[in-house]
Amino acid sequence: THFGFREVPTGEKQKLVGEVFSSVAGKYDLMNDLMSLGIHRAWKRYFVGTAQVAPGDRVLDLAGGTGDIAALLRDRVGDAGEVVLGDINGAMLRVGRDRMIDRGSVRGLSYVQCNAESLPFPDASFDLVTIAFGLRNVTDKDAALREMHRVLKVGGQARVLEFSEVQAQWFKPLYDFHSFKVLPKLGQLFAQDASSYQYLAESIRKHPPQDQLKAMMDTAGFVRTSYKNLNGGIVAIHTGYKV
Ligand code: SAM
Repeated sequence: THFGFREVPTGEKQKLVGEVFSSVAGKYDLMNDLMSLGIHRAWKRYFVGTAQVAPGDRVLDLAGGTGDIAALLRDRVGDAGEVVLGDINGAMLRVGRDRMIDRGSVRGLSYVQCNAESLPFPDASFDLVTIAFGLRNVTDKDAALREMHRVLKVGGQARVLEFSEVQAQWFKPLYDFHSFKVLPKLGQLFAQDASSYQYLAESIRKHPPQDQLKAMMDTAGFVRTSYKNLNGGIVAIHTGYKV
């Protein structure tokens, strides 16, 4: 499905999430840089740089959006490998595809419009499955984790990069101020859209914290699950394997 989007029917909440991302797609990269002071780039490099992946591998990046993770993965799998960028939102996928072409990356990439909760791929088809800043938006996270497990080959790794629970008490008030006061203002100023960024802050608070997400991965069938906090738990990387 190179350059084609396969459609998968989606539920109501999924449609709403879809609308949020449609409205931000064009400004998405600028907003990431503004909101995180550019730190999201370092998180993503670390996330892909420490993933279990080798040249020639076939990898899936779910909720891949504008393609930051896919571009980094592309460098790691090389010309013999393949990166599939999956996202539920056609507008994000189009921005992602255009950016990949601008970066000179065409070969070994495909784009699939899909819901992480029910993936249009056969069992055991990927060496690595990633989802970065995406699981938070998925309604049925358990289903998404089960699907990630299903499409992985035996010995494959699943990795989740997501906002998590800040560990240090002293940092929490500052973090709340940034989330609930600064973010909506930035959204208003630069994207003429405060409510999408209000949604962002709320969705971060509702996301399962480190240990709970690890337990959910265990339940989905992953083994040797673990997590690593980055920047004191602002984000965490969860890892699990299929055996
Ligand atoms: N991974 C990219 C990154 O790190 O820059 C994009 C992250 S963006 C915050 C979240 C993405 O998740 C959006 O592109 C959105 O369309 C996608 N998404 C939301 N719900 C989804 C679902 N159920 N299945 C697949 N993608 C979903």
